Amino acid sequence: MAKRCGSMSNIQGHPCFGGNHHKNGRMHLAVAPRCNIKCGYCNRRHDCANESRPGVTSRLLTPGEAAAKVREVMASPAIGPLIKVVGIAGPGDPLHNEETFETFRLIGEEFPHLIKCLSTNGLLLPERMSLLEEIGLHSLTVTLNALDPRVGKRIYSHVCHDGAIHRGEAGAALLIANQLDGIRQAAKLGLTIKINTVLIPGVNDDEIPAISRKVRELGAFVMNIMPLIPQADFANLAPPTPERLDALRQENEKTIGQFKHCRQCRSDAVGLIGQDLPVAQPTQELLFTQ
Ligand code: SF4
Ligand code: SF4
Ligand code: SF4
Repeated sequence: MAKRCGSMSNIQGHPCFGGNHHKNGRMHLAVAPRCNIKCGYCNRRHDCANESRPGVTSRLLTPGEAAAKVREVMASPAIGPLIKVVGIAGPGDPLHNEETFETFRLIGEEFPHLIKCLSTNGLLLPERMSLLEEIGLHSLTVTLNALDPRVGKRIYSHVCHDGAIHRGEAGAALLIANQLDGIRQAAKLGLTIKINTVLIPGVNDDEIPAISRKVRELGAFVMNIMPLIPQADFANLAPPTPERLDALRQENEKTIGQFKHCRQCRSDAVGLIGQDLPVAQPTQELLFTQ
């Protein structure tokens, strides 16, 4: 089994990894508009379901604007002292946007004490690992919804990689292989890893136990089973009931710790989880590119 990762002191400061989320806040920076895959539950207009409640990103920020926003928030006597983590979770896939790395570099220079956190679909993890090491990423979330490409092809309609579009089982197989390789490499690097799995009733329910075993074996720290928000290709599916979600989390708790207080925050959320600052900007359209 790979080394379990993450230093305990840092985890305790991170609200998404079991740190005290009544005291420790995070700040999301919406600097990553483009995505390289298409998940059936994503409607292409809103936040990445990697972390974020679909439908609400306020405004894309440039890296410079993101740094200015962090400066402003950190200078606020009410909010600044609460912020322990700066996260990039969208609205597209952070690893598919150079702005992500530029933003982390700027924040790291000015606020080296802030924990750097990122959420990704994992397609580019293996090839971006050295960059993540260079910027000093501490925690990583990978959204992993299937291990079997036959299930994956029902979730991902296409996967764009190296200038080619991969569809069906081939696309899903490529994505899954990179996700698993990326998680393995990230654990070796000592990153603290959370796995998000969107529970899509009738599609990937049966995969959940195998996913929890696999990611535990690879060195992930915690798993976050998230309920499907029906929209886009899955608009006609019923979301899982809270009872079903609870039962599944309990069943898999023995394999890997389950994160239970996720609120599926916006990708521009700032503050304590569940008590975010208000934002009032127009929604941006998500860009899908190769
Ligand atoms: Fe949407 Fe891309 Fe996120 Fe999937 S990985 S939910 S397609 S933004
Ligand atoms: Fe939490 Fe994910 Fe944001 Fe990191 S990127 S602060 S884990 S929601
Ligand atoms: Fe934490 Fe979930 Fe919100 Fe991310 S989306 S900050 S994991 S509560």
